[in-house]
Amino acid sequence: METITTIPEVREWLDAERRAGRGVGFVPTMGYLHPGHLSLVETAVKENPVAVVSIFVNPLQFAEGEDLGSYPRDLAADSAQCEALGVDYLFVPSVEEMYPSPVATVVKVSSVAAPLEGVARPHHFAGVATVVAKLFSIVGGCRAYFGSKDWQQVCVVRRMVSDLSIPVDVVACPTVREPDGLAMSSRNVYLSAEERAQAPVLRAALDAGLDAISAGETDSAAVEAVMEAVVDRADLASLDYAAAVQADSLVSDGPLHGEVRLLVAARFGRARLIDNDGAVI
Ligand code: AMP
Repeated sequence: METITTIPEVREWLDAERRAGRGVGFVPTMGYLHPGHLSLVETAVKENPVAVVSIFVNPLQFAEGEDLGSYPRDLAADSAQCEALGVDYLFVPSVEEMYPSPVATVVKVSSVAAPLEGVARPHHFAGVATVVAKLFSIVGGCRAYFGSKDWQQVCVVRRMVSDLSIPVDVVACPTVREPDGLAMSSRNVYLSAEERAQAPVLRAALDAGLDAISAGETDSAAVEAVMEAVVDRADLASLDYAAAVQADSLVSDGPLHGEVRLLVAARFGRARLIDNDGAVI
Protein backbone atom coordinates (compact mmCIF):
# COMPACT_ATOMS: atom_id res chain seq x y z
CA MET A 1 0.00 0.00 0.00
CA GLU A 2 1.28 3.46 -0.94
CA THR A 3 0.53 6.22 1.55
CA ILE A 4 0.31 9.55 -0.28
CA THR A 5 0.01 13.04 1.17
CA THR A 6 0.07 15.29 -1.90
CA ILE A 7 -2.50 15.98 -4.63
CA PRO A 8 -0.13 15.72 -7.64
CA GLU A 9 1.11 12.32 -6.50
CA VAL A 10 -2.41 10.87 -6.23
CA ARG A 11 -3.21 12.15 -9.72
CA GLU A 12 0.00 10.68 -11.14
CA TRP A 13 -0.49 7.22 -9.61
CA LEU A 14 -4.19 6.95 -10.48
CA ASP A 15 -3.84 8.32 -14.02
CA ALA A 16 -1.17 5.66 -14.59
CA GLU A 17 -3.49 2.94 -13.23
CA ARG A 18 -6.35 4.03 -15.50
CA ARG A 19 -4.01 4.25 -18.53
CA ALA A 20 -3.04 0.65 -17.79
CA GLY A 21 -6.74 -0.27 -17.91
CA ARG A 22 -7.24 -0.69 -14.16
CA GLY A 23 -10.44 0.88 -12.81
CA VAL A 24 -10.43 2.73 -9.51
CA GLY A 25 -12.68 2.28 -6.45
CA PHE A 26 -12.61 5.15 -3.95
CA VAL A 27 -13.75 5.38 -0.32
CA PRO A 28 -13.65 8.89 1.18
CA THR A 29 -13.58 8.93 5.01
CA MET A 30 -12.68 11.08 7.97
CA GLY A 31 -10.73 8.17 9.51
CA TYR A 32 -11.00 6.46 12.91
CA LEU A 33 -12.15 3.51 10.86
CA HIS A 34 -14.72 1.07 12.27
CA PRO A 35 -16.41 -1.97 10.68
CA GLY A 36 -18.91 0.34 8.90
CA HIS A 37 -16.11 2.09 7.02
CA LEU A 38 -14.30 -1.21 6.51
CA SER A 39 -17.34 -2.75 4.81
CA LEU A 40 -17.12 0.03 2.19
CA VAL A 41 -13.39 -0.59 1.83
CA GLU A 42 -13.93 -4.36 1.41
CA THR A 43 -16.52 -3.75 -1.30
CA ALA A 44 -14.27 -1.26 -3.11
CA VAL A 45 -11.37 -3.74 -3.01
CA LYS A 46 -13.58 -6.58 -4.27
CA GLU A 47 -15.23 -4.63 -7.09
CA ASN A 48 -12.24 -2.71 -8.49
CA PRO A 49 -8.70 -3.56 -9.63
CA VAL A 50 -7.41 -0.53 -7.69
CA ALA A 51 -8.73 0.67 -4.31
CA VAL A 52 -8.09 4.12 -2.83
CA VAL A 53 -9.10 5.29 0.66
CA SER A 54 -8.84 8.92 1.73
CA ILE A 55 -8.65 10.07 5.34
CA PHE A 56 -9.30 13.76 5.84
CA VAL A 57 -11.15 15.45 8.69
CA ASN A 58 -12.66 18.24 6.63
CA PRO A 59 -12.86 21.51 8.58
CA LEU A 60 -15.37 22.96 6.08
CA GLN A 61 -18.16 20.61 7.17
CA PHE A 62 -17.94 21.46 10.89
CA ALA A 63 -19.66 24.57 12.23
CA GLU A 64 -18.22 26.75 15.01
CA GLY A 65 -18.73 24.88 18.30
CA GLU A 66 -18.99 21.42 16.70
CA ASP A 67 -16.46 18.64 17.37
CA LEU A 68 -13.71 19.40 14.80
CA GLY A 69 -11.02 19.75 17.48
CA SER A 70 -12.00 16.61 19.39
CA TYR A 71 -12.94 14.43 16.40
CA PRO A 72 -11.26 11.03 17.10
CA ARG A 73 -8.18 10.15 15.04
CA ASP A 74 -5.90 7.09 14.84
CA LEU A 75 -3.91 7.06 11.62
CA ALA A 76 -1.68 4.12 12.61
CA ALA A 77 -4.65 1.81 13.24
CA ASP A 78 -6.49 3.08 10.13
CA SER A 79 -3.45 2.48 7.96
CA ALA A 80 -2.92 -1.07 9.30
CA GLN A 81 -6.59 -1.94 8.65
CA CYS A 82 -6.51 -0.58 5.10
CA GLU A 83 -3.30 -2.47 4.36
CA ALA A 84 -4.79 -5.70 5.74
CA LEU A 85 -7.86 -5.35 3.49
CA GLY A 86 -5.77 -4.90 0.35
CA VAL A 87 -6.09 -1.15 -0.22
CA ASP A 88 -3.61 0.04 -2.86
CA TYR A 89 -3.43 3.76 -2.04
CA LEU A 90 -4.11 5.63 1.19
CA PHE A 91 -4.48 9.37 0.62
CA VAL A 92 -3.91 11.38 3.81
CA PRO A 93 -3.63 15.06 2.90
CA SER A 94 -3.01 17.80 5.46
CA VAL A 95 -5.44 20.72 5.79
CA GLU A 96 -2.76 22.90 4.13
CA GLU A 97 -2.54 20.49 1.17
CA MET A 98 -6.31 20.57 0.65
CA TYR A 99 -6.91 24.23 1.48
CA PRO A 100 -3.67 26.20 0.97
CA SER A 101 -5.66 29.44 0.94
CA PRO A 102 -9.10 30.35 2.27
CA VAL A 103 -11.73 28.62 0.17
CA ALA A 104 -13.51 30.99 -2.23
CA THR A 105 -15.30 28.31 -4.25
CA VAL A 106 -18.05 26.42 -2.47
CA VAL A 107 -20.34 23.74 -3.92
CA LYS A 108 -23.86 24.29 -2.62
CA VAL A 109 -26.52 21.72 -3.43
CA SER A 110 -30.11 22.86 -2.86
CA SER A 111 -33.18 20.56 -2.93
CA VAL A 112 -32.08 17.32 -1.19
CA ALA A 113 -29.57 19.20 1.00
CA ALA A 114 -32.21 21.58 2.40
CA PRO A 115 -34.38 19.53 4.82
CA LEU A 116 -33.39 17.44 7.88
CA GLU A 117 -29.61 17.77 8.39
CA GLY A 118 -29.76 20.88 6.20
CA VAL A 119 -31.94 22.54 8.85
CA ALA A 120 -30.05 21.16 11.86
CA ARG A 121 -26.57 21.90 10.43
CA PRO A 122 -27.02 24.68 7.84
CA HIS A 123 -23.39 24.75 6.62
CA HIS A 124 -22.69 21.03 6.76
CA PHE A 125 -23.60 19.89 3.25
CA ALA A 126 -21.82 22.78 1.53
CA GLY A 127 -18.68 21.60 3.34
CA VAL A 128 -19.32 17.98 2.38
CA ALA A 129 -20.14 18.75 -1.28
CA THR A 130 -17.10 21.01 -1.61
CA VAL A 131 -14.65 18.46 -0.23
CA VAL A 132 -16.21 15.55 -2.12
CA ALA A 133 -16.12 17.54 -5.38
CA LYS A 134 -12.47 18.33 -4.69
CA LEU A 135 -11.64 14.71 -3.84
CA PHE A 136 -13.43 13.52 -7.01
CA SER A 137 -11.41 16.04 -9.02
CA ILE A 138 -8.17 14.74 -7.43
CA VAL A 139 -8.97 11.02 -7.71
CA GLY A 140 -10.56 11.25 -11.17
CA GLY A 141 -13.02 8.86 -12.80
CA CYS A 142 -13.92 6.09 -10.34
CA ARG A 143 -16.61 4.23 -8.46
CA ALA A 144 -17.06 5.95 -5.08
CA TYR A 145 -18.48 4.10 -2.08
CA PHE A 146 -20.67 5.80 0.54
CA GLY A 147 -22.59 4.46 3.55
CA SER A 148 -26.39 4.46 3.54
CA LYS A 149 -26.09 5.34 7.23
CA ASP A 150 -25.69 8.90 5.96
CA TRP A 151 -28.57 8.59 3.49
CA GLN A 152 -29.04 12.31 2.95
CA GLN A 153 -25.32 12.61 2.19
CA VAL A 154 -25.69 9.92 -0.49
CA CYS A 155 -28.57 11.91 -2.02
CA VAL A 156 -26.56 15.16 -1.93
CA VAL A 157 -23.46 13.58 -3.51
CA ARG A 158 -25.56 11.85 -6.20
CA ARG A 159 -27.30 15.11 -7.05
CA MET A 160 -23.99 17.00 -7.24
CA VAL A 161 -22.42 14.33 -9.48
CA SER A 162 -25.44 14.42 -11.77
CA ASP A 163 -25.73 18.23 -11.91
CA LEU A 164 -21.99 18.74 -12.53
CA SER A 165 -21.52 15.69 -14.83
CA ILE A 166 -18.70 14.39 -12.63
CA PRO A 167 -17.44 11.05 -14.02
CA VAL A 168 -18.00 9.11 -10.81
CA ASP A 169 -20.43 6.25 -10.08
CA VAL A 170 -21.80 6.67 -6.55
CA VAL A 171 -22.40 3.32 -4.83
CA ALA A 172 -24.51 3.26 -1.62
CA CYS A 173 -23.58 0.45 0.82
CA PRO A 174 -25.65 -1.01 3.70
CA THR A 175 -25.38 0.33 7.26
CA VAL A 176 -23.23 -1.79 9.60
CA ARG A 177 -24.65 -2.02 13.13
CA GLU A 178 -23.62 -3.14 16.60
CA PRO A 179 -25.37 -6.36 17.75
CA ASP A 180 -28.00 -4.28 19.61
CA GLY A 181 -28.86 -2.30 16.47
CA LEU A 182 -26.90 0.92 17.06
CA ALA A 183 -25.42 2.12 13.76
CA MET A 184 -21.63 2.16 13.99
CA SER A 185 -20.23 5.68 14.02
CA SER A 186 -16.94 7.31 14.95
CA ARG A 187 -18.99 9.56 17.24
CA ASN A 188 -20.25 6.62 19.35
CA VAL A 189 -17.05 7.02 21.44
CA TYR A 190 -18.58 10.21 22.87
CA LEU A 191 -21.39 8.22 24.56
CA SER A 192 -21.30 7.58 28.33
CA ALA A 193 -22.24 4.05 29.46
CA GLU A 194 -25.78 5.21 30.24
CA GLU A 195 -26.17 7.00 26.91
CA ARG A 196 -24.73 4.00 25.04
CA ALA A 197 -27.33 1.78 26.72
CA GLN A 198 -30.15 4.01 25.43
CA ALA A 199 -28.75 4.78 21.96
CA PRO A 200 -30.34 1.70 20.25
CA VAL A 201 -33.67 3.52 20.70
CA LEU A 202 -32.96 5.10 17.29
CA ARG A 203 -33.02 1.67 15.62
CA ALA A 204 -36.14 0.83 17.65
CA ALA A 205 -37.83 4.02 16.42
CA LEU A 206 -37.06 3.14 12.80
CA ASP A 207 -38.42 -0.39 13.36
CA ALA A 208 -41.62 1.00 14.86
CA GLY A 209 -42.02 3.33 11.87
CA LEU A 210 -41.40 0.48 9.43
CA ASP A 211 -43.96 -1.66 11.31
CA ALA A 212 -46.54 1.12 11.01
CA ILE A 213 -45.89 1.32 7.26
CA SER A 214 -46.16 -2.48 6.93
CA ALA A 215 -49.50 -2.25 8.72
CA GLY A 216 -50.71 0.14 6.01
CA GLU A 217 -49.97 3.61 7.42
CA THR A 218 -49.16 6.08 4.62
CA ASP A 219 -49.58 9.35 6.54
CA SER A 220 -46.05 10.66 7.13
CA ALA A 221 -47.08 12.64 10.26
CA ALA A 222 -48.57 9.47 11.79
CA VAL A 223 -45.41 7.45 11.09
CA GLU A 224 -43.30 10.29 12.51
CA ALA A 225 -45.44 10.35 15.67
CA VAL A 226 -44.84 6.61 16.15
CA MET A 227 -41.08 7.11 15.86
CA GLU A 228 -41.09 10.14 18.18
CA ALA A 229 -42.97 8.19 20.85
CA VAL A 230 -40.26 5.51 20.84
CA VAL A 231 -37.40 8.03 21.15
CA ASP A 232 -39.32 9.80 23.94
CA ARG A 233 -38.99 6.63 26.05
CA ALA A 234 -35.21 7.26 26.32
CA ASP A 235 -34.77 10.02 28.91
CA LEU A 236 -31.18 10.76 27.79
CA ALA A 237 -32.21 11.32 24.16
CA SER A 238 -33.09 14.75 22.85
CA LEU A 239 -34.85 14.25 19.52
CA ASP A 240 -33.84 16.51 16.66
CA TYR A 241 -36.13 15.04 13.99
CA ALA A 242 -37.99 11.87 13.09
CA ALA A 243 -39.02 12.02 9.44
CA ALA A 244 -40.92 9.77 7.04
CA VAL A 245 -40.28 11.01 3.50
CA GLN A 246 -39.88 9.94 -0.12
CA ALA A 247 -36.42 8.33 -0.47
CA ASP A 248 -35.30 10.37 -3.49
CA SER A 249 -36.61 13.88 -2.68
CA LEU A 250 -36.41 13.63 1.16
CA VAL A 251 -39.75 15.40 1.50
CA SER A 252 -43.26 14.00 1.70
CA ASP A 253 -45.65 14.98 -1.09
CA GLY A 254 -48.92 13.58 0.21
CA PRO A 255 -49.49 9.96 1.25
CA LEU A 256 -46.23 7.98 1.39
CA HIS A 257 -45.74 5.89 -1.75
CA GLY A 258 -43.09 3.90 -3.57
CA GLU A 259 -39.60 4.15 -2.04
CA VAL A 260 -39.83 5.69 1.41
CA ARG A 261 -37.06 6.63 3.85
CA LEU A 262 -37.36 7.01 7.61
CA LEU A 263 -34.67 9.19 9.18
CA VAL A 264 -33.96 10.08 12.81
CA ALA A 265 -31.47 12.35 14.55
CA ALA A 266 -31.05 12.77 18.30
CA ARG A 267 -28.53 14.11 20.74
CA PHE A 268 -27.27 11.95 23.61
CA GLY A 269 -25.10 14.27 25.72
CA ARG A 270 -22.15 15.30 23.53
CA ALA A 271 -23.02 12.87 20.75
CA ARG A 272 -25.41 13.77 17.95
CA LEU A 273 -26.41 10.50 16.28
CA ILE A 274 -28.32 9.89 13.04
CA ASP A 275 -29.83 6.76 11.55
CA ASN A 276 -32.27 5.77 8.79
CA ASP A 277 -33.87 2.87 7.00
CA GLY A 278 -36.02 2.35 3.94
CA ALA A 279 -39.23 0.66 2.85
CA VAL A 280 -41.13 0.20 -0.39
CA ILE A 281 -44.90 0.68 -0.27
P1 AMP B 1 -17.11 9.39 7.88
O1 AMP B 1 -15.72 8.98 8.21
O2 AMP B 1 -18.01 9.48 9.07
O3 AMP B 1 -17.17 10.59 6.97
O4 AMP B 1 -17.71 8.19 7.02
C1 AMP B 1 -17.08 7.77 5.83
C2 AMP B 1 -18.02 6.88 5.07
O5 AMP B 1 -18.34 5.73 5.86
C3 AMP B 1 -19.36 7.57 4.76
O6 AMP B 1 -19.76 7.23 3.43
C4 AMP B 1 -20.29 6.98 5.78
O7 AMP B 1 -21.64 6.97 5.37
C5 AMP B 1 -19.74 5.58 5.90
N1 AMP B 1 -20.18 4.97 7.16
C6 AMP B 1 -20.07 5.50 8.41
N2 AMP B 1 -20.64 4.69 9.32
C7 AMP B 1 -21.13 3.62 8.64
C8 AMP B 1 -21.84 2.43 9.01
N3 AMP B 1 -22.16 2.18 10.29
N4 AMP B 1 -22.17 1.55 8.04
C9 AMP B 1 -21.85 1.80 6.75
N5 AMP B 1 -21.18 2.89 6.33
C10 AMP B 1 -20.82 3.79 7.25
